[in-house]
Amino acid sequence: MAAAVSIQNVHKVYDNIPVVNNLSLNIQAGEIFGLLGPNGAGKSTTIRMLTTLTSPSEGHLVVAGYDVQRQATEVRREIGVVLQQTSVDGDLSVWENMELHGRMHHIPKLQRQRRITQWLDFVELSDRRLDKVKTLSGGMKRRLQIARALLHEPRILFLDEPTVGLDPQTRRRLWEIIQSLNQQGMTILLTTHYMEEVEYLCNRVGILDQGQLIEIGTLTELRYKHGEGLVMTQQGDRWTYKFFPTLQEANQYLEQQPDKTGMMTRPTNLEDIFVELTGRNLD
Ligand code: ADP
Repeated sequence: MAAAVSIQNVHKVYDNIPVVNNLSLNIQAGEIFGLLGPNGAGKSTTIRMLTTLTSPSEGHLVVAGYDVQRQATEVRREIGVVLQQTSVDGDLSVWENMELHGRMHHIPKLQRQRRITQWLDFVELSDRRLDKVKTLSGGMKRRLQIARALLHEPRILFLDEPTVGLDPQTRRRLWEIIQSLNQQGMTILLTTHYMEEVEYLCNRVGILDQGQLIEIGTLTELRYKHGEGLVMTQQGDRWTYKFFPTLQEANQYLEQQPDKTGMMTRPTNLEDIFVELTGRNLD
């Protein structure tokens, strides 16, 4: 089966600085793939290239079977895009924002109205449909963006930092929406610097740092590769980490220490793996 998204040897250079540096990866239909990395890693630039908003300096991008540079119109028809900056019009109502998008995609009136009703219902905004968007909360605006991105029935949804700036409860609600869309068959590529988001949602993760893919796999694979158990030792205000194949082995190591002051064990998470690979934290 052809990949839903294929990125091959892609480079993006701004002012002589490579911000995406020889990136290659494939995303299969039906996956929720998370591109994880700190600010400035090149995540948004990658999404912008895949969604036809900016061209790569070098390399080849294929989305839904179409060449992104040569078949941009076909690509746009197959994708839904939710970018970081809220791009909904605050002076228009929820319904009008949806209408505008539906008209831009030339969806016939009856079908448009049926789909607007359906997707506003799905993101639980039906009762706010006549309200101006500027009166909505941040989480509601994000849900509206998602509903709007779904109106032309795309096969692949791109979400750039979908929950940034939202409170934990709102974030969780959005996760449920994203998961439910995936269960309905939607392929999803999201970027984030929240490892919990990846751990909750994603089948696979690619870790991006300074424009380069430094690790890729399922969470289970990455934890298996780097070690599933961790011994943390506090020295002053710093922690040192020691990885073990299993949590049990980490516990055994701790047991054997004559002085256990400032030491603890826990299962490894993605942040630990990022720190191990780069020597830095995710944010
Ligand atoms: P992320 O989404 O991982 O935070 P970005 O893709 O937004 O990272 O940015 C990667 C790097 O590219 C950053 O150093 C950023 O300043 C730079 N960059 C992004 N867009 C532009 C642009 N239009 N012109 C110049 N530099 C840019």
